[in-house]
Amino acid sequence: MKSLVLEKKEELSLRDFAAIDHDEEVLGPRSVRIKLHTVGICGSDVHYYTHGRIGPFVVNEPMILGHEASGVVLETGSEVTTLKVGDRVCMEPGVPDPNSRATRLGMYNVDPAVRFWATPPVHGILRPTCVHPEAFTFKLPDNVSFAEAAMVEPLAVGIHAATKARIKPGDIGVVLGAGPIGLVTALSALAAGCARVFVTDLDDKKLELASGLGAITPINVTKQNAADVVKRETEGWGAEVVFEATGSPKAAAQIFEPLAPGGCVVMIGGQPDPISYDAGAAMVREARVENIFRYAHVFPRCVAMLGSGAIDVKPLITRTFDFEDSVRAFEIAASAPSGDVKMQIELPQ
Ligand code: ZN
Repeated sequence: MKSLVLEKKEELSLRDFAAIDHDEEVLGPRSVRIKLHTVGICGSDVHYYTHGRIGPFVVNEPMILGHEASGVVLETGSEVTTLKVGDRVCMEPGVPDPNSRATRLGMYNVDPAVRFWATPPVHGILRPTCVHPEAFTFKLPDNVSFAEAAMVEPLAVGIHAATKARIKPGDIGVVLGAGPIGLVTALSALAAGCARVFVTDLDDKKLELASGLGAITPINVTKQNAADVVKRETEGWGAEVVFEATGSPKAAAQIFEPLAPGGCVVMIGGQPDPISYDAGAAMVREARVENIFRYAHVFPRCVAMLGSGAIDVKPLITRTFDFEDSVRAFEIAASAPSGDVKMQIELPQ
C-alpha cells in the first residue's frame, strides 16, 4: 500500500509500505474496512516530522502519518449493524481498551492503553485503506463533505474544551492562538453560547480569517495587550472563559490576566515541558482550571453540528493537496506559512 511514511526525523517518503501489523488489516466482526478520502495535516504530524518525537512518544521506526480522516466503507465485519458498504464516514483515531478502568469511568481518552493513529508505535492513515472499529466510525449526513468530515477530529478538541468550560449563554470568551485548534475552539465557544470571543495571535492573516467566522474580535498580541483589550471591552470585568490554544509557555504564563472573577481557564495547547503560571492571579479570581487531552465521545455531536450548520469549518480549510504531493504538503506545513490554518490531503479515489 502506497503510504506517506515518516522514515525518521525530517525524512518523509511516499512509498509502498507492507509492514503494517497484520492484526490491523484483518477485518474483525465489529470492524469496517475504509477507503480513505481526505486526511488533514495536524500540528502533531508536523511535529513528529520536524522533531521525531512528542514528549515520551518517539519515532524509532518508520511510521505512517495522519489521523484526521474521512472515507467510504468498503467492507463490513459480520456483526456490524450501524454501517454498510458505501457509507461516507469519519473516524475517531484513538481506540481505547474497552475493559480498562479509564474506559469504564467514561474517560477513555486518558486510558494509558489507548491506540491513537500516528502516535508511535501506531501507524496513521495516509494510506489507501484502513480497518477500524464500527464504534469509532461515524456515518456522515449527505450535506457534510469529506473535507469537513476530516475536520471533525480537530473540532472534537474544541467541543470537548467548550464542554469542560461549562459555558453559559452570554459568556465572554478568549482564545489564545488562531491555529486550527484555536479557531475550532472559538467556533465551539460561540456555538456553546458565548456572546463574543476574542482571539489572539501574531499573524494578521489568521486573525483576519478568524474575524470572518462570527462574533470574533481579533487581537494581534504584537501590537496590543490581550488582557487590556478584553478588560476595556468588558467594563473592566474580564472574560468568563479563557482557552489556551497556543502551547506557548509565555502565553500560558499570562493566562489569568484577561479572566473574570469566578472564571474558567481551559488548557488545550500541548506543553511538552513543565511550565509555570501565576497561581496568585488564579486565587484572587477563584479561577477554575480545566485541562483537556483530546476528547471522549464527542464525534457524534460534531457531526450533528456540521450537518445542521450550527458550526461551519469550511473557512478553516485553506489548502488542499493531492496525495502524490503529500511530501511537499508537509514541507509547506512545516514552514508555517502566514494565513494557512488547515491543510488537507486528498487520496486518489
Ligand atoms: Zn489532529
